[in-house]
Amino acid sequence: MAKQQQVIQAIRGMHDILPEQSPRWHWLEQHARQVLSAYGYQEIRLPILEKTELFKRSIGEVTDIVEKEMYTFDDRNGDSLTLRPEGTAGCLRACLEHGLLHNQAHRLWYYGAMFRHERPQKGRYRQFYQLGVETYGMAGPDVDAEMIQLTDRLWRKLGIREKVVLQLNSLGTCEERAVYRQRLVDYFKQHIELLDDDSKRRLHTNPLRILDSKNPDMQSMLQSAPVLLKHLGEESLRHFDDLKAMLDALGIDYELNTRLVRGLDYYGKTVFEWVTDDLGAQGTICAGGRYDGLIEQLGGRANHAIGFAMGMERILALIEQLPELSVPQSVDVYMIRVGEAAEKIGLLLGERIRDELEGVKLQVNCGGGSFKSQFKKADKSGAELAIIIGEDEALSGEVALKNLRVEQAQVNLNHDALLETLKHWAESR
Ligand code: ATP
Ligand code: MG
Repeated sequence: MAKQQQVIQAIRGMHDILPEQSPRWHWLEQHARQVLSAYGYQEIRLPILEKTELFKRSIGEVTDIVEKEMYTFDDRNGDSLTLRPEGTAGCLRACLEHGLLHNQAHRLWYYGAMFRHERPQKGRYRQFYQLGVETYGMAGPDVDAEMIQLTDRLWRKLGIREKVVLQLNSLGTCEERAVYRQRLVDYFKQHIELLDDDSKRRLHTNPLRILDSKNPDMQSMLQSAPVLLKHLGEESLRHFDDLKAMLDALGIDYELNTRLVRGLDYYGKTVFEWVTDDLGAQGTICAGGRYDGLIEQLGGRANHAIGFAMGMERILALIEQLPELSVPQSVDVYMIRVGEAAEKIGLLLGERIRDELEGVKLQVNCGGGSFKSQFKKADKSGAELAIIIGEDEALSGEVALKNLRVEQAQVNLNHDALLETLKHWAESR
């Protein structure tokens, strides 16, 4: 007898999405696509692998992602490649490569798996899904407002608008940040004894990130730190004020978070996050900002860009907390067939139903079984209706139709009448 082999498991932090979970994913993805198309955004599909250099140059050498989270390896030619940890760099690379940024404006979105070698925990995985949105060629702040507006619409569609809060900040221009950075470093140096090791390390590499620290012992010192908003010039302030006025006009509330800096190097001016209290420490479901400077950094001509990405697992986790969830089932109608004649009739009837009722999800029982076992499968499928064909029905040319979810007498119908009934049922859903 062959030795029983051990089952190989998935990589830690990388999860399967099982069939019973996929209807929720589809539901979320469909809503997101609908909202994006309502604003005229177009999809761009990008490779999962890029040259390591791309991420180093765009995200920044001293960010968490590049320092310690990337899946980087040499391929068979000895080229250093990296599994994308985010989509902005690849999206911009593609647009530059294909000349999409010359005197053009673009509104784009992409969707897919991202990879970061982080410590796996609730809401933090090593493979996770992001829906990213990027626009190019628009100086804003009107398009900044549009991005926030479309996310606000999506949250309302998903039923989670009450659970999330918009946090807003402006990082100003590169020059304004440089002046501020020096002020901030001086301030931290005066309080060096209060900095933890992580922050001491960041003091010379990425001091703005220290503002982001969650360390409770540092909070009161951080509260009194110099505020970036106060170092912004006239143009940056006007951009920010105009954006806030547009959000006010749209009735979208926001919280000013002067310590919101974002993890990546390439942001400037508008930055925002949608956060919730209902997911523990991993409370940011969507984050983004303006990154005009990145285009030149990647070899393009000076231009404008703003984008954001949302974490799909975190959004789903929020949705799953809702008291009522109207996610469609994978199967609407289940056909039970007992006996050889019934199986033959069912085979053809199934095709007729699919011909005449597009959009109805019909599962036909395969593999035989008694009425009892087929009813069990019908129930488990989540179907609302069962079409039953036994030997009697096969002889009489009828079927029985039963509602599996509400107590109701089953009815016998000929095939034409069944089709009529199903059409009415489908229309009334
Ligand atoms: P965090 O502060 O949670 O680490 P981040 O600033 O690293 O987030 P971004 O790079 O801005 O995140 O990614 C945008 C969104 O993608 C996040 O707001 C979050 O919803 C999601 N996300 C980021 N990293 C992960 C991860 N490891 N697992 C699951 N979702 C993630
Ligand atoms: Mg992170």
